Amino acid sequence: MAELNAQSLRTGCCITGGGPAGMMLGFLLARAGVDVVVLEKHRDFLRDFRGDTIHPSTLELMHELDLLAEFLQRPHQEARQITGYFGNAEVTVADFTHLPTKCKFLAFMPQWDFLNFLAERSQRYPSFHLRMQAEVTGLIEEDGRVVGVEATSPDGPLQVRADLVVGADGRHSTVREQAGLKVKNLGVPIDVLWMRLSRRDGDPHQPLGRFNRGKILVMLDRGDFWQCAFVIPKGGIEDIRGRGLSAFRDALADIAPFLKGRLEELTEWNDIKLLTVLIDRLEKWQRPGLLCIGDAAHAMSPIGGVGINLAIQDAVAAANILAGPLRHGAPAMSLLQKVQRRREWPTRITQRLQMFIQDRLLSPVLAGRKQLAMPWPLRLIRRWPILRRIPARLIGIGFRPEHVQTPDGPAPNRSEL
Ligand SMILES: Cc1cc2nc3c(=O)[nH]c(=O)nc-3n(C[C@H](O)[C@H](O)[C@H](O)COP(=O)(O)OP(=O)(O)OC[C@H]3O[C@@H](n4cnc5c(N)ncnc54)[C@H](O)[C@@H]3O)c2cc1C
Repeated sequence: MAELNAQSLRTGCCITGGGPAGMMLGFLLARAGVDVVVLEKHRDFLRDFRGDTIHPSTLELMHELDLLAEFLQRPHQEARQITGYFGNAEVTVADFTHLPTKCKFLAFMPQWDFLNFLAERSQRYPSFHLRMQAEVTGLIEEDGRVVGVEATSPDGPLQVRADLVVGADGRHSTVREQAGLKVKNLGVPIDVLWMRLSRRDGDPHQPLGRFNRGKILVMLDRGDFWQCAFVIPKGGIEDIRGRGLSAFRDALADIAPFLKGRLEELTEWNDIKLLTVLIDRLEKWQRPGLLCIGDAAHAMSPIGGVGINLAIQDAVAAANILAGPLRHGAPAMSLLQKVQRRREWPTRITQRLQMFIQDRLLSPVLAGRKQLAMPWPLRLIRRWPILRRIPARLIGIGFRPEHVQTPDGPAPNRSEL
């Protein structure tokens, strides 16, 4: 990175957003010897609303990067199966123990731990630069080509010029909006209420989905607490608030009776966060000098908890295709298009599956008009347990898994190892 002056930098690749997509791409490019600046608008990675799932495919990448053992030393939980209750019937929906991966489980780790881990490992490479509290507000363009970004920082306005700008700034991406990239909104009928409840001895161990007439609750075991996601019809929050907190607690007790006695931990509506769910994707992920990846290119629903996985897979594909060319200057538009061609099919098919599940499973349950009937895919899985391997593969690995092909180029700064 060349510091043109205190507030003006020049780099090979400027990545907007330090989420899973941006941090993984930053790490891989720096590891391959490309100069990278990652701009993240928050002061730290400590945010509660992010998914906490680390998939077997991501753990496989950690293995390929020789980081797995170190990574798994961080506090985490491991789920080898996912169980759901449909009415009173228990169904093991996914069984990860047969996956052809090193880790045959889904790991739950707070996303800030995962991002901190990547940041620490990235900082071992001298060409990696992470600027926190740097919010990108605009693009710098010359002759129809994106050549950098403008950002705010605690020290005042910041300009970063780069051979390539990557928008990894999530589903409300400033970069994609500023670039005028066209978004196709696919429509989602649900939102999610996100809250924590304490975990107690004797509680179940596995992640749980509970479906009952009019109600859906997903509970993720986070050690000493449950991270709970209560699914509601889109825009239904005012109605729920109108009925009062006590009615909301009753709804939770109704669907998960073992929670009775701890629902008073929800003392006010501030304890319950509304997360708006979106599914969309860009028609074109790139313009000359610019590429979008992760949720900035395709916002994912929380269904299946696969958004982080896709974001990371995009980062690996982008690094595989672009790291070499970036060492020599700006990559050609055809290479940026190649990243989209590589990742668009897995994105489309995953989004189609998410929409199938929301329309065929979630919406009828939430409508809650008739007696709850177990959908045929769950009936099949219940009858033939071997079929549990299919959802495990879709969730745990996904479509077209990526593998690290970038070199561990320059020697890391050994004094820090
Ligand atoms: C309710 C809910 C629950 C979910 N649960 C899961 C789950 O359990 N598992 C799972 O795999 N997926 C889950 N997802 C989806 C998942 O969160 C996303 O798909 C994933 O985080 C995308 O990663 P990303 O790096 O592309 O974007 P993000 O994680 O959104 O990261 C973008 C980063 O960019 C930063 N940023 C934004 N704008 C700017 C700017 N202008 N300048 C600088 N920085 C900026 C943000 O602060 C953020 O750090 C869930 C989604 C929702 C809505």
